[in-house]
Amino acid sequence: MKAAVATEFKSPLEIKEVETPQVTSGKVLVQIHACGVCHTDVHACHGDWPVKAKLPLIPGHEGVGQIIEIAGDVHHLVVGDRVGIPWLHSACGHCDYCLDGNENLCPEQQNSGYSVDGAYAQYCLADANYVVKIPDNLSFVEAAPLFCAGVTTYKALKVSGAKPGQWVSIVGVGGLGHLAIQYAKAMGFNVIAVDTGNEKLSLAKDLGASMVVDYTKEQPEAAIKDRIGGVHASVVTAVSKSAFAAAYRSLRRGGTCVLVGLPPETLPLPIFDTVLNGTKVIGSIVGTRKDLKECLQFAADGKVKSIIETAELKDINHVYARMLRGEINGRVVLAMK
Ligand code: NAD
Ligand code: ZN
Ligand code: ZN
Repeated sequence: MKAAVATEFKSPLEIKEVETPQVTSGKVLVQIHACGVCHTDVHACHGDWPVKAKLPLIPGHEGVGQIIEIAGDVHHLVVGDRVGIPWLHSACGHCDYCLDGNENLCPEQQNSGYSVDGAYAQYCLADANYVVKIPDNLSFVEAAPLFCAGVTTYKALKVSGAKPGQWVSIVGVGGLGHLAIQYAKAMGFNVIAVDTGNEKLSLAKDLGASMVVDYTKEQPEAAIKDRIGGVHASVVTAVSKSAFAAAYRSLRRGGTCVLVGLPPETLPLPIFDTVLNGTKVIGSIVGTRKDLKECLQFAADGKVKSIIETAELKDINHVYARMLRGEINGRVVLAMK
C-alpha cells in the first residue's frame, strides 16, 4: 500500500510502498478514504515532546474509511462499516481509569499515528473496540476532523464547566479552534475568539464568535477584560506559551483555563493570584468513545461543520509547512484515491 512515512525526526515524510498490515485477533483493516492533518502530527514528526513517536512512523489520527477485513473474533462490526480511527487507538479496558470511563487517561493506551501506525495511508489496522462509527449523513471528508479536532474541543468545553450564557474564549482558530467555536455556540456559550489575520478572524465571526481579538494588535487579556470583564473559561489550542499566559490572565475570578494545545514548554503560574481568584487550570486530552459519539452527533444534526480544504497524500510536506506558518483556515483533509 502507499503511505506517507516519517523515518527521522524533522525530515520530510516520504511517500512509499509499504506492506499492508495483516488482520490479527481483535483488529479490523480499514480502507482509508480521508485523514485530517492535525498539528499533533507535526509535533510527532519533529520529535517535539518528551515521549517520542515510534520511527519509522505513518502519522494520522483522523483517519476514516470502510472496514474491508475483520478478525474472526470480532462480532460487533461488519465488513463495509464506515468508521474512524481516533488518537486513542486502544486502551487496556481494566485499569481504574478505564473503569471510571476515563479511557483517555489509560496508562496502557496506544495512540494512532504515534505509538502505532496511523492513517496517512491507503489502509490502516485498527482495534475493533476503539473505532467509532460515522453517522450516515456525514461524508468521509467532513467526518475526518471530528475524530480529533472535534472530539478534543467538545471535551475541553465540557470539562471547562462553563454554563449556557457565559463567556468562553477560544484561543487559536486553527483546526481545533474553528470547531471549538461551533461546539461552544451549540452548547449555549458566548464566544470571544483570539488569533491573527483577517481570514481567521472573519472565519471566527462567521462561525459564531461574538467578538474577536487579534493577538498581534491587542493584548488579549486587556482586550477581553475591557470588553466583557474577563471570561468564565478559556480553551487554549494555540501552539504558543504566550497564548496560554494571556488566556490565564483573561479569566474572571473562579474561571477555568483549559490547556489543549501542546507547545513543549512550561507555564509558570502565579500562586497568589491563582489562590485568591479561585482559578482552575485543567489539562484536557482528546475524549472518550462516548465523547466522540456525542460530538459526531452534533455534526450529524447540522450544528457543527468542519471547514475543509482537501489535499493529496503527496502534498503532506507542503501542508505541514503551511500549518507551521499558521496559513491554514480550518482543517486540511487528505483525500485518498
Ligand atoms: P493549527 O495549527 O491548525 O492551529 C493553531 C492556531 O493557533 C493557528 O490558527 C495559529 O494562528 C494560532 N495561534 C498561534 N499563536 C497564537 C497566539 N499567540 N494566540 C492565539 N492564536 C495563536 O493546530 P491544531 O491542529 O488546531 O492543533 C493545535 C494544538 O493542539 C497542537 O499543539 C496540537 O498538538 C494540540 N492538540 C491537542 C489535543 C489534546 O487532546 N489536548 C488534541 C489535538 C491537538
Ligand atoms: Zn489531533
Ligand atoms: Zn486502562
